[in-house]
Amino acid sequence: MDERAKVLIMNLVELMRESQQRVYDYEFADYLMDKTGIKPEELVECGIYGSRPLHPDVGGIAQREDGSILRVFREHYGEGDIFKSWRRFYLGALDEVCYVPEGSDSGYSRQNFLDLCDGDNELAERLFEAVTWEHPESWIDQAMTSGEWIVCNGCGKLYDVDGNSGVCPECGKAGVE
Ligand SMILES: [Zn+2]
Repeated sequence: MDERAKVLIMNLVELMRESQQRVYDYEFADYLMDKTGIKPEELVECGIYGSRPLHPDVGGIAQREDGSILRVFREHYGEGDIFKSWRRFYLGALDEVCYVPEGSDSGYSRQNFLDLCDGDNELAERLFEAVTWEHPESWIDQAMTSGEWIVCNGCGKLYDVDGNSGVCPECGKAGVE
């Protein structure tokens, strides 16, 4: 990569940092790190990886070479003993295990969180940030019961009521009268 391209990219990163724009483009972020040497923390700060702070990991995990879980080193958090890694969620590969809830040995990756949220990056982040010990599925059930999250009865999109003033971000239909 020539110097001019490097300067353009650094300007772009600076612009994103200022505007707090979030793009969720993980491939682009990998590319930037590879080509410019910019650090993951800087990318988080400028919004390319989302704008949440990176908390230290809760607990740890040992995996076999094929990615399957060998052992979960649980730490108490919320109301249970879990593994949760912000670093893995925001900076890891899509299929990297970043959360193991209480009472389960199955791990969740960012892809799993995305799948639970119909591929919506912002919802997936909210969900990841919100779980403290429970299964993400249970958290969603509870959020739907309390009316925090609803499924639009116009287009079927799952969304966060408060974050969207009660109006479906997809089709504009009011979900709450
Ligand atoms: Zn809708």
